[in-house]
Amino acid sequence: MDLKSSHLSSVPAEPVIPNKSRLGTQSSLLTYSQQDLPLSPGKYSRTGSRKSAASLDDVRSNGWLDAMMASSPPKKKPLKGSNAQFSSIDFTVEDYTSSMVDHPSALDYFDKIIDGAKNKKVAVFLDYDGTLSPIVDNPDCAFMSEDMRATVRSVASYFPTAIISGRSRDKVFDLVKLTDLYYAGSHGMDIICPFSQTLSNNHPSCVKSTDHQGKEITLFQPATEFLPMIDEVFKTLVDITRDIEGVKVENHKFCVSVHYRNVNENNWTTIGQIVHDVVKKYPRLRSTHGRKVLDIRPVIDWNKGKAVEFLHESLGLNDRDDVFSIYIGDDKTDEDAFKVLRESNRGYGILVSSVKKESNAFFSLEDPTEVMKFLQLLVKWKRQGERNTSEL
Ligand SMILES: [Mg+2]
Repeated sequence: MDLKSSHLSSVPAEPVIPNKSRLGTQSSLLTYSQQDLPLSPGKYSRTGSRKSAASLDDVRSNGWLDAMMASSPPKKKPLKGSNAQFSSIDFTVEDYTSSMVDHPSALDYFDKIIDGAKNKKVAVFLDYDGTLSPIVDNPDCAFMSEDMRATVRSVASYFPTAIISGRSRDKVFDLVKLTDLYYAGSHGMDIICPFSQTLSNNHPSCVKSTDHQGKEITLFQPATEFLPMIDEVFKTLVDITRDIEGVKVENHKFCVSVHYRNVNENNWTTIGQIVHDVVKKYPRLRSTHGRKVLDIRPVIDWNKGKAVEFLHESLGLNDRDDVFSIYIGDDKTDEDAFKVLRESNRGYGILVSSVKKESNAFFSLEDPTEVMKFLQLLVKWKRQGERNTSEL
């Protein structure tokens, strides 16, 4: 595989922090003190009755609870007066407001999409949860169907294909179980791609390694120094939330997820407050919302959009003018990737959603079933093109 390299283009950065270190984090905040944690598990009761009224007001006045409720269907409009910023929470959650715009169906507009891809090098990027698999109550049971697996295998046989997930890379590989793909876990903070000496020379976070089959690959992990911190936060959150029924805390290696899908709504404020209090102790971490999940991530200038750019580079696509990439995803974190494709005019983002949302994607698909249909059309189009070429 062609492995040319060039510098990554830049996309709008995450929150700007002065005094940046190599990781884009505040050098004066590099020291983490043990005295900051752990928080006492007893501080939080299941109903939140032991919290101070002031801290509950803090959560409510900042609209955090509204965000947690709005972060997945059923959709509710944010309550009035919930416009303040919560200090450690990235509050740009899915926003079901009247400003939502419609995104045409990628199935209905398949011919138009393919018009843009003709005679170009097509690459496919896929989110996992809610895109290849249905959203389920237990994230450990978010399995993709065998039909979907066969479809993704076909896609990967014709196009460079990568899975970009918030899960750890190992977990998403265990779920997808396909070897001919590239994987980016932890929201793009853990990538394996074809081995490239040039990449290793350009990026200090790249190392040469081997994959599951013993093949040489490049491993890119820009947040390695956060591993002990993430592990500590994971253990702390497991400990503090152990008495809250239905909560699930996952360690995704470079980020931690706190799922509240199965938690009684009366306890959502408590969970929000717990995450806020823990993250507040770690200035180099931040929280973001997903679909009924709070993610705790390093504050580094890296996201799924950057991961797409990095994978373009590793696949030798950065220097080409004839690249057409398709990125399919359902989550807020996929917006960074949609934006990269939109601004670079190098393909289309496709949002998986059954409701209207604000998005940088061009098109939409309702659910994983429609994603599979779209991918099958893509394979059929490619096969037909090859057949036509061989008949000439
Ligand atoms: Mg997803």
